[in-house]
Amino acid sequence: MGYSLQAMVEIIKLPEHVANQIAAGEVVQRPSSVVKELLENAVDAQATRVELRLRSGGIALVSVIDNGLGIHSSQLALAFERHATSKLKSADDLFRLATKGFRGEALASIAAVSDVVLVSKTADEPTAFAIRMRAGKRELFEETAFSTGTSVSVSHLFFTIPARKNFLKSEAVELKHCLDEFHRVALLHENIHFQCFHNEAVLYDLPVGSRHQRIVHIFGSKYADRLVPVKEQTERFELSGYVIKPEYAKKTRGEQFFFINKRFIRSPYLHKAVLEAFEGLLLSGHHPGYFIEIDIDKAAIDVNIHPTKTEIKLDDEYHVFSVLRAAVRHSLGRYQINAPIDFELNPIFTPSYEQHVSEAKAPRIKVSSTFNPFKPEVQQQESFSELYVETDAQQIRIDGQTAVKEDLWNLDSLKTFQWANKFIVVSSADKLLVIDQYRAHQRVLYEAFLKKMTVEHIGSQQLLFQESIALQPQEWVLFETIESHLIDLGFEFERSAESLIIKGVPEFFPPNESGSVFKRLIEEAESLSSVLSYSTADMAAKVLAKHSAVKKGVALSAEAITELITDLSRCKEPYLSPFNKRIFVTVQEAEIIQKLH
Ligand code: ADP
Ligand code: MG
Repeated sequence: MGYSLQAMVEIIKLPEHVANQIAAGEVVQRPSSVVKELLENAVDAQATRVELRLRSGGIALVSVIDNGLGIHSSQLALAFERHATSKLKSADDLFRLATKGFRGEALASIAAVSDVVLVSKTADEPTAFAIRMRAGKRELFEETAFSTGTSVSVSHLFFTIPARKNFLKSEAVELKHCLDEFHRVALLHENIHFQCFHNEAVLYDLPVGSRHQRIVHIFGSKYADRLVPVKEQTERFELSGYVIKPEYAKKTRGEQFFFINKRFIRSPYLHKAVLEAFEGLLLSGHHPGYFIEIDIDKAAIDVNIHPTKTEIKLDDEYHVFSVLRAAVRHSLGRYQINAPIDFELNPIFTPSYEQHVSEAKAPRIKVSSTFNPFKPEVQQQESFSELYVETDAQQIRIDGQTAVKEDLWNLDSLKTFQWANKFIVVSSADKLLVIDQYRAHQRVLYEAFLKKMTVEHIGSQQLLFQESIALQPQEWVLFETIESHLIDLGFEFERSAESLIIKGVPEFFPPNESGSVFKRLIEEAESLSSVLSYSTADMAAKVLAKHSAVKKGVALSAEAITELITDLSRCKEPYLSPFNKRIFVTVQEAEIIQKLH
């Protein structure tokens, strides 16, 4: 009986466009997948100029125009067939891949789930041809005008699969993914002039230059002196690139790029090699940044293990691992001899060199009875503990220290001194308190700023000299996600093509520093908001406090010490820094007696 039922089952070969739709799922996950495939095709076609145009984060349109070899009119339709490729002739070639594409799947897959118009012209044909594919079916093929090269425009992505379309994230998120792919291709090909537009605005214009210049053009001029070169050559392979100085390591996994034989790849294994090289140089929770390119005998790798090709198998992994680790260590070591890093100086956040320089000026703690660098004339008479301001340190208590508060802060009876320009030591009848001055001041400022933002009315002050700051494309995306909160806080902006003009800032904000502080706010918004903060106000207060607090290594006057302790004693949460680090430790008389035994 079972047999007769089975006999009814008919095996059919799927029509090509259905097969393509199924295969598309593997190759095309979101607009950024289209960006990657089209950019790689342009590079494979030996283009020297490549333009990426995106609309609505790539959801509405991804278009890539190149001046490469073009596709002959007789081959145009073939380019959209699955497993049609000009790059792989025999199975043997698989092991000697010089091009990025080779499966001949991308165009077929993309066309199966979208609306594609491809226009192309080769140097030896007099005119260009356009072909249009919708849901995998050809809709148009005609002569048209175009210079030598290829233009591929992909719109209505996933219109054939609405469920897939609903999976897409916000425009900002999709844009970020698209830009990530753009970065990967653009970083590797500094000999190609790349441009990137989003909704007609220029996000990147990357002229031909060195690898170092390309990194700086993409990630911003501040990277110019953050990069340490890495170079090594063995019989088997060549390694080159840059690592980011450890003090600029980020809390987010930002710039981590491995390229093997001109492909971006992910490799937890090689990442570990870099991590080991950075050992002892990174603060906990910080990630190293790197741009490492490895060129290895093509026969020694197999890139064909994953359809999107960001994974790779190396024949002799451990050899590469150990050479990479040694090379990075060597570079970091050499760099540190020239510019020693003292992490002890700033245990929470390592400042940039600019900050080191500016810190060398007179300490900002002076003598006003309540220090606030932004408004030194304001008197803060009331205690913060009366205020109801939510802070995220609230849930965290350090055992036994809640009780300390009452008897600790009887200031009249205290003796204080600064020790090692880092700590303030306070002695009372039976114990010593060792206070971390930087963390203490962060706490004081943080609560003051937060109070200004959340409890008191915040007015806006118009800037006499409006500041214009240039934002990187990534920063624009970030800015847009917090823009409305910043306006609530009293900021006023005007946008121009490339820069943001700050017209007004909250009253408590230092007007003359608004540009630089604001830029830092944006830079850190990403890591801080997700990791540490409840709200934009909280995040902004933390960033402002972190950058305004008096650092370690600064000598404080007796008045400044008294004032800092007074202010700290009035804090709602005097035990923890805004970043949840202990502000002080106590040493009991009994402990000392015990030690002396
Ligand atoms: P693959 O890149 O794996 O070969 P694709 O589906 O991406 O497969 O492309 C199919 C073929 O179309 C390529 O092999 C190439 O011959 C041609 N092609 C695609 N894009 C371009 C382009 N921008 N310039 C020239 N030829 C292209
Ligand atoms: Mg391709």
